[in-house]
Amino acid sequence: EEKKEDVKEETHKKEDCKPAVFIPVDRLPEIQEARLRLPILAEEQVIMEAVRENESVVLCGETGSGKTTQVPQFLYEAGYASSGGIIAVTEPRRVAAISMSQRVATEMNLPGRVVSYQIRYEGNVTEDTKIKFMTDGVLLKEIQKDFLLQKYSVIIIDEAHERSVYTDILIGLLSRIVPLRNKKGLPMKLIIMSATLRVEDFTENKRLFRSPPPVIKVEARQFAVTVHFNKRTQMDNYTGEAFRKICKIHRMLPPGGILVFLTGQAEVHSVCRRLRKAFPYRPNREHTDSMETDDLKKSKRAKKKNVSLPRINLDSYSALPVDEGDEDRQAGVDEDDDDDDDGSDLELELGDHPESDQEEKADPSIPLYVLPLYSLLAPELQAKVFRPPPAGARLCVVATNVAETSLTIPGVKYVVDCGRVKKRFYDRVTGVSAFKVTWISQASANQRAGRAGRTEPGHCYRLYSSAVFGDFGLFSEAEITRRPVDDLVLQMKDLNIEKVVNFPFPTPPSSEALIAAEQLLISLGALEEPPRRGRLGEMERARLSCPITPLGRAMAAFPVAPRYAKMLALGRQQGCMPYVITIVAAMTVREIFEDFDRPAGSEEESTKMAGKKARSVQMRRLWAGQGQSLQLGDLMVLLGAVGACEFAGCTRQFCEENGLRFKAMLEIRRLRGQLTNAVNAVCSDAGVYMDNKMAPPTESQVTFLRQIVLAGLGDHIARRVQAEELLDPKWRNGYKTPLLDDPVFIHPSSALNKTLPEFVVYQEVMETTKMYMRGVCAVQAEWIPRLLPQYCHFSVPEESPAPWYCPLSGRLKCQQQSTFFRVSWKLPAVEM
Ligand code: ADP
Ligand code: MG
Repeated sequence: EEKKEDVKEETHKKEDCKPAVFIPVDRLPEIQEARLRLPILAEEQVIMEAVRENESVVLCGETGSGKTTQVPQFLYEAGYASSGGIIAVTEPRRVAAISMSQRVATEMNLPGRVVSYQIRYEGNVTEDTKIKFMTDGVLLKEIQKDFLLQKYSVIIIDEAHERSVYTDILIGLLSRIVPLRNKKGLPMKLIIMSATLRVEDFTENKRLFRSPPPVIKVEARQFAVTVHFNKRTQMDNYTGEAFRKICKIHRMLPPGGILVFLTGQAEVHSVCRRLRKAFPYRPNREHTDSMETDDLKKSKRAKKKNVSLPRINLDSYSALPVDEGDEDRQAGVDEDDDDDDDGSDLELELGDHPESDQEEKADPSIPLYVLPLYSLLAPELQAKVFRPPPAGARLCVVATNVAETSLTIPGVKYVVDCGRVKKRFYDRVTGVSAFKVTWISQASANQRAGRAGRTEPGHCYRLYSSAVFGDFGLFSEAEITRRPVDDLVLQMKDLNIEKVVNFPFPTPPSSEALIAAEQLLISLGALEEPPRRGRLGEMERARLSCPITPLGRAMAAFPVAPRYAKMLALGRQQGCMPYVITIVAAMTVREIFEDFDRPAGSEEESTKMAGKKARSVQMRRLWAGQGQSLQLGDLMVLLGAVGACEFAGCTRQFCEENGLRFKAMLEIRRLRGQLTNAVNAVCSDAGVYMDNKMAPPTESQVTFLRQIVLAGLGDHIARRVQAEELLDPKWRNGYKTPLLDDPVFIHPSSALNKTLPEFVVYQEVMETTKMYMRGVCAVQAEWIPRLLPQYCHFSVPEESPAPWYCPLSGRLKCQQQSTFFRVSWKLPAVEM
């Protein structure tokens, strides 16, 4: 009896809040079969019921349990996309947004115009889109356009455990948007998905949800993973250690894929290269060398270098020379980018290889199919990891952290974990940033180990001791606590969230970081000046709730950091806008030049790289120009490089010949288009267009550009220490900045490293062997008090030079001495 009533109520509820429909999906039989094996399928009812009955639901499930691929399908089938609303899924990484949309499209047998993706510059969204995968940043931008997100019926926040800044902000905003939508009779659902069980920051947070959302756990069918710790921890050469471990596994252990976790792209390539050398593809040991060379010729790399890979004696692999210096040498070249010719797309056809019988014994003659995987690897190369390896070969994926949770690689039985991750660290006060390799958390280490037990029991080899593991933090910190938040604060102010301190962050950023952000925005003119009077407490409070100015609104419309947005806002005069757009676009892309200091694979390669480097240095000098244009420094180099590249049609060949990263150039082109549109949208009479045959700026334009750059980077100013002030030799050629106690330097590769101008502004300070400024531009001392009065102290007119009458203008004028705030640099007098 009771049951019947329950059912009635159910149906009633169903009619109430959502269509009780079932939208059929026509899946291929093999797809359907694979789906049924996913643990999440067993929970479909529970999940859908929870979603139906609650505005917000938290879903936890091991990586690979089917959250990302299946939940959008459950919702689709239940009709959440049938009455016009779109099902949105946000991912912290572009990689995941693209590959997951493709996977779901394939599973549902639907085209990309129905199951689509949208990332910063590209996407395939259409009128017909029903399921839309996107990066979290993209959804945040959409909230600015339509706070209620009326296009969407469901928002799924995926990978919430990663605690990326945008994900955190989205959850905060959605905790308000969802109830608002439902109150207005426009039903909307929020699903937060996490790969770990640590969700208290979302559920127990009273500021977020009034009543904690239900947490549904999906039990994954996880096989036992035996964890092996190293006795000793390799402190420096963990890539060498990883290489040795892989060789050992491949040589001695039964079939099964290997997944290796390293920290960055350079390490991934270095290990891939060594593995390919150690285990060259050889379908059959009896094959002659000439055949092997034939095979190799098919590959791009062999074509280029025309070398045959050396054979190695498998019995002496452990005696292979240890590769020192695997770390990324150059700062700033992180996982970002690349299409280098490291052979990431090296693919050898295995030919018809006689099926090796799956005997449970290692056979070193089995080829090792080595694939790199990192976030910015081209999607088509990335997709390879999901395909089965060539018959008879053992899969070995050498990856960065992306393989930890976002992507599930099938058939992995062995995991090799270096225990580290590369992260960008900022000094909250000084803004100095550095990429550092640090230990992961215990939660991450366990996630990584779990990758080995997806299809059968597996093994995880940790390249560190259990004692070291014991010292790892339990969980990874939220990103928001580790980076500056000026861009977020501006976006939030634009959403009319004035008191950012009161925002329901899952983990709030430190108040220091918030204050620094507001301060920067005030000095850029994006926020109103707080009153200077009043009691201390009141002033403090006012300082943290400054409203946005019209300039701030314009700046918020540009999809770049506030300092750059300010430059765009000032770029309209003297026809400078196209140049400002280009410079900003180029500064936003992390590194436009190829890195010729990376470790080379062979002597031949190293000679080749030296040649390319010489050419690249020469080109940079050419692009920097002379006279006025040289004063624009590294930014002139960026402008010149982009100009030259576009003039040549932005081809891969031009980039390769001139040491530019092709992918970076394409991204700059897209960003220029996007910024051009944004500028035209903000100022309807700007009339800017993208000119691919852009003439170099004139002398007066260059001067103007330098002033614009100064106005945007005003807090990043540095003054060379003069000979007479040189007390400590460590300051030789050093620059003093307002916030740092130590000297910063102009990098040897900078266009200004010979002239060493007195005053410069810089894009950022990166700490490598020394603290180096990146993106340096020379500025004139007399511009500073005029363009950055907010940073200057002016002398009282009566004191230093007395007012004087100017017969020309017929006005009384007075000159003021000014000093640049904390550092008290004397600056030239200005007329008032
Ligand atoms: P979760 O989000 O819970 O980590 P996913 O939904 O991403 O899980 O993955 C579920 C299953 O789908 C995994 O077994 C994974 O191997 C498989 N899968 C995901 N993407 C692909 C793909 N592009 N090709 C083949 N299989 C895939
Ligand atoms: Mg997932």
